[in-house]
Amino acid sequence: MNKEVVIKKLLDWWDKNQRKFPWRELDESSPWVVLGTAILLWKTKAENVAKVHEVFFHKFPNEKSFLTSPEIQVKNLLKPTGLYNRKFLMLKKLAHLLDSSSFNQETLSNFGQYIRNLGRLVLYDENIIPVDTPVSRLLIRLLDFKVKNIRRLSPYEETFLGELVRKLPPHRKKKVLYWALVDFADLMCLPKKPLCAECPLKEECNFYKKKNKTQ
Ligand code: SF4
Repeated sequence: MNKEVVIKKLLDWWDKNQRKFPWRELDESSPWVVLGTAILLWKTKAENVAKVHEVFFHKFPNEKSFLTSPEIQVKNLLKPTGLYNRKFLMLKKLAHLLDSSSFNQETLSNFGQYIRNLGRLVLYDENIIPVDTPVSRLLIRLLDFKVKNIRRLSPYEETFLGELVRKLPPHRKKKVLYWALVDFADLMCLPKKPLCAECPLKEECNFYKKKNKTQ
């Protein structure tokens, strides 16, 4: 398996098929916006977050505006993203952390691995890819990369993901690899019926090779 070839084909696909979401254009130096967006995206489809993202961050542009708003108002806005009670509590925790201390890399340890790793990638430009269910599915099929627990990646798994990021061509931003994996998993490598026949990665894909060997 040539990971450089996989990444090149993936990014070529993404250049033509990428989805446009408001958070991909935002100020990515703001922990409130970056981690708040990650919380909204947690366990839901990006399209659901797109319905509320602009209004949410217009009403709550920073942690202080969030903390001084009535709970019911926040929850009503969060409803379309699902799990809104959990998300409200996670946002509250984030807002308190940002409000009470100077935010730094260590603060990320207060969050689960998906949100933590998204912060490490976007805020600190680390070599890591946040793994949610769709990205995990794609990596397992494509690279035969076994993720034991997406909530708690092992050091080996984090190293593997870091190596993947290091294969990026130098002119590409690291977060672009993550976005490409997310879009590819959601649009091509579907959970039940992946679009293998038209997939540009099928020659490299372990799942595809195994499936065709047994037929
Ligand atoms: S060949 Fe099929 S399983 Fe493999 S990455 Fe493409 S869509 Fe997914």
